[in-house]
Order: sequence, then C-alpha cells, then structure tokens
Amino acid sequence: MGVKSKIVIGNWKMNGSAELVESFTRTMLDNQAAYAGIRVVLCPPFTLLQAMADALEGGPILLGAQNVSEFEQGAHTGEISAPMLASMGTKMVIIGHSERRASRGENDRIIAAKVKQALSVGMVPVLCVGETAEEKARGDSGAVVWQQLSVVLHAIGSELFGQLIVAYEPIWAIGSGSTASTDDILTITTAIHAKLAQLGIQLPLLYGGSVNAGNAAQISSLPTISGLLVGGASLQAGQFLLLCSNTAKGA
Ligand code: PEP
Repeated sequence: MGVKSKIVIGNWKMNGSAELVESFTRTMLDNQAAYAGIRVVLCPPFTLLQAMADALEGGPILLGAQNVSEFEQGAHTGEISAPMLASMGTKMVIIGHSERRASRGENDRIIAAKVKQALSVGMVPVLCVGETAEEKARGDSGAVVWQQLSVVLHAIGSELFGQLIVAYEPIWAIGSGSTASTDDILTITTAIHAKLAQLGIQLPLLYGGSVNAGNAAQISSLPTISGLLVGGASLQAGQFLLLCSNTAKGA
C-alpha cells in the first residue's frame, strides 16, 4: 500500500535564518549516506527559498515550499505564485496545513485552487488533512478526513488527484508532543487507501504530528505510510538527520 521510497518532509514554518540554512544543509549534505534510499524535502519560509535552493543544488535533498497562491498572477499583493516557486526549483508545496486552515481562513475551495496551481507547473502538492480533538472524541476522524479529501478530489478529478501526496496530520497531534497511536494511524490511513483504491487512485500517504527521531522509524514503517511530515523536529540539524536516518533504517 505504501509507495516505494519513503519521504521525509521538513516544514520549518515561520522559523529559520540564512545562518540556519547554511549550517543545516551542511550537516545534511555531509551525512548523505545516513539517509540514502529515502527522499528528503526541506520547506523553509519563502524568504529563505533561494538560499536553500543554492545550498541544496546538485545534492539529493529536494526544495519545498509551505504555501502557494491560488492565483496564477496579477493584483494579489503579498502572494507568491506557483510559477514563481517553480522557477526557483521548488518541487513540492504544502497545501491546506491546519495552521493555514485555522488562522488564514483557507477553505476547501481555496485549497483546491492552490492544488490546481501547483500541479499546473509540475510541483507536487502535499495536501494536509486531519481532524480536531473534538472530532476525534466524537468518532468522526475518518469522515472528516474523507470530506477534506473529497472536496479536492471532486474539484480536480481522480487522474490529477493521483499525482498528490497526502499528509494525515491530526490537528491535536501537531506541535503537542503526542502522536496519534499506531492503531489510529493505521485505521485512518487504511480507510483512505481503500476509498481511493475504489477510484483507481494510489498515492503516498504521510503522517505528521509530533514526529521526532525517537518515533520516526516505528511510524514510517507502518504498511500504509510512505513517510513523514515533520515540523518542530526539522529545525535542529542533528535531530533531523537522526530522524531521517532512523526512517531510512526502518524503510
Ligand atoms: C506540522 O506542522 O506539519 C507538524 C507536523 O508539526 P510538528 O511536527 O511540530 O507536530
């Protein structure tokens, strides 16, 4: 059910500096053997994309972004378009992160439009879905996640949807120090794979939410999981390197 090589995506959120890009990428690139066989992607803030692109050039780590405009160009002050990101060598883009859904007003229509923009320039959208603690307590996790996926699926169709990476990120697990249990991850992701399979779609499903170097191997080796989306633990090079290496060992 998983997809061949595991993926680890680091989401720096609104953190980092030119100095961090320099020291972080040096550590990662000097120790490539530790994570050979998995795909690593780093998503710094927009202002550090060019420095990160330069530092990663020629190496195995891919460049990702944390957001993209739903518009292609024009009078959208402060927005960054998909063609702009692609021109910097950005290969993936996180879309629909719960922090943007909750505090930037991103609804399913906007998220679907962003996915279309990313695909139109050949970037892989990493579509984030996940339930709140209340929805989980009501037993609604599966339904909530499927609803978030279906809106995008209906907007773009199954052929394009199959080009996405989906990250299952329970909102209550993000930045909380508590991951979802492996049983819960398996239940939700098995159900997603099964529903998508009925539509002829197979895609990589990642897990995100308080992943660290200690739990990465166990979670990433679940049969339904193709990798990890990592926030806090992607900011410290030594920890992220160990997380990637533990994922590679379990792959
Ligand atoms: C995230 O923000 O996508 C995330 C998974 O964060 P953290 O790893 O810090 O929980």
